[in-house]
Amino acid sequence: MVAPGVWRAGTRWVNWYVVDGGSDGLTLVDAGLPRYTRQLDTVLAQLGYRRRDLRAVLLTHGHVDHTGMAGELGRQGLPVHLHPADRQLADDPGRNRTERSLLGYLFWPATGAFVAHAVASGALAPATMSATVDLVDGAVVEAPGQPVVTHVPGHTEGSCVLEFRDHGVVFVGDLLCTVSPVTGRRASPQLQTRGSNRDSAQALASLKRLDDVQARLVLPGHGAPWTGGVPAAVASARRIGCR
Ligand SMILES: [Zn+2]
Ligand SMILES: [Zn+2]
Repeated sequence: MVAPGVWRAGTRWVNWYVVDGGSDGLTLVDAGLPRYTRQLDTVLAQLGYRRRDLRAVLLTHGHVDHTGMAGELGRQGLPVHLHPADRQLADDPGRNRTERSLLGYLFWPATGAFVAHAVASGALAPATMSATVDLVDGAVVEAPGQPVVTHVPGHTEGSCVLEFRDHGVVFVGDLLCTVSPVTGRRASPQLQTRGSNRDSAQALASLKRLDDVQARLVLPGHGAPWTGGVPAAVASARRIGCR
């Protein structure tokens, strides 16, 4: 548990999260890599839930390491929420375009190991998925926990952060991570690399959009929770810049 009613799951490489919305049921925030479906039921059972307690899947963006289980869950009838600007990317991961080639980053131990893990976890053969509900900037999502959406383009066109105000947490997807792309060790909050971002300058500019987020606990797609609050996370990202 990372906060009351909020759990972090996944692997050392990729996070996905469960939020308990009380009597409304559970929301999944991000859906890991495709083969993470093998851990889904086990994780839910460990938390005292079952798959049928899930009410919604919310995707911070359309990359395959965040959409992996969403195809299967969508086919089981769960609404899958995603910003429309990432819909094509989620439907066809081959469309992904980054500012620089990821190849140039593979000699970094953590990035190379991450890519190997992603491939082994089905990144190249994702299940077909179609998001069914659009995330809308500034809107409250009708899903357990009722998060507020802020559109933060840059990492992808449709990247969003999701603030669950009652839980005091904000999911930042891949706008910020807390792991070094070089060593894989814990690191201060920073933007993803140019080998992962579509437009790093735009991602940097999107940090300004976090000014209104009040939650203190920052939960990234990759790396450990950041307890230092949003302003410090943003300051760290600006200081470190983009590699
Ligand atoms: Zn991403
Ligand atoms: Zn990611």
